[in-house]
Amino acid sequence: MAGSGVCKTGDIGMKHFLISGLALCFLSSCGAPEETAAGVAPVKNYSWSMVTTWPKNYPGLGMAPERFSQLVEEMSQGQLKVTVYGAGELVPAMGVFDAVSGGSVEMGHGGAYYWKGKVPAAQFFAGVPFGFTADEINAWVNRGGGLELWEDLYRPFNLKPLPGGNTGTQMFGWFNKEINSLEDIKGLKMRFPGFGGEVFKRAGGIPVNIPGGELYTAMQTGTIDAVEWVGPYNDLAFGFQQVAKYYYYPGWHEPGSMLEFTINIDAWDTLPPHLQAIVTTAAKAVNQDLLDEYTASNNRALQDLIENHDVQLRELPKDVINEFRIISEEILETSAANDPDVKKVYDSFKTFLAEVKGFHAIAEDAFVEARTNSDGDS
Ligand code: CA
Repeated sequence: MAGSGVCKTGDIGMKHFLISGLALCFLSSCGAPEETAAGVAPVKNYSWSMVTTWPKNYPGLGMAPERFSQLVEEMSQGQLKVTVYGAGELVPAMGVFDAVSGGSVEMGHGGAYYWKGKVPAAQFFAGVPFGFTADEINAWVNRGGGLELWEDLYRPFNLKPLPGGNTGTQMFGWFNKEINSLEDIKGLKMRFPGFGGEVFKRAGGIPVNIPGGELYTAMQTGTIDAVEWVGPYNDLAFGFQQVAKYYYYPGWHEPGSMLEFTINIDAWDTLPPHLQAIVTTAAKAVNQDLLDEYTASNNRALQDLIENHDVQLRELPKDVINEFRIISEEILETSAANDPDVKKVYDSFKTFLAEVKGFHAIAEDAFVEARTNSDGDS
């Protein structure tokens, strides 16, 4: 087939088709690279591995990297294949950052606040208490200078970050007693990552970070007293309704948590530009798609939890939320004062939040209030 029409087409208007055709030629039976037109490099295929912090095929979080892999393979016509591994299959959940940084795998998927022990400022790129909603963090990262700051933070670790999904506003979490004041937090051992965990600690609680796949057992065995994870869709999937009675909202600590893809920079540099474009485009598609999945699924799951599992839905008292807000501001300010990287990111975060809040007050916020009131169920 080396002399087929596809391989020899020279019409400049067919350039894209020609490139695609050549890719197919090399992958199939069109002949050896030396038989093609001069100056066209042989097509090289890439086979990557991606480790994740989620159980394999876990609804929402764990399916985002699977969809990314599928999109990349389809868009690249098989030139780049990314095999996804669940937590513990190649490396433990909390080993993802180091594995991608060290180059034993090319990609990772997880949440930036899991690495706060290595990169405290990274937490802003997952989300911080009383911070951005999903739309706002997307705007900050993609259009407000956030991504460049994130890249600067990860470059010393030979990593390139990309947004990898968003959970939307989370729930405060699952408890086996009512929370009526901060007194009820004291001594409570709760799974609680990121800055939110530090706020919880300052409020008298005991935060621990445990990978998602271990949380049910930790609750069941009493290793922890309470758990925050994501929201109804994901929490139902883990079965927390079987080990806790009260389900509290709102998730003041995670108002719109962004997930992340990490890419080893040496591996990234080996990709030709069109495959780099495919990776960034697929990541962007998945970043939005996951948020859509949560938006579509959370309410159904919440109704299921209440109607079929006797879960007691509770709103955290407003004065308790306000105390958490005051502590949150203190924690962020202190952290910025102690770490120049945190300060740099915090300054950008704070400026962007002030700007976006100003408009949202008269746009989304005002509209949602009007819609709630007009429903007569405020
Ligand atoms: Ca969470």
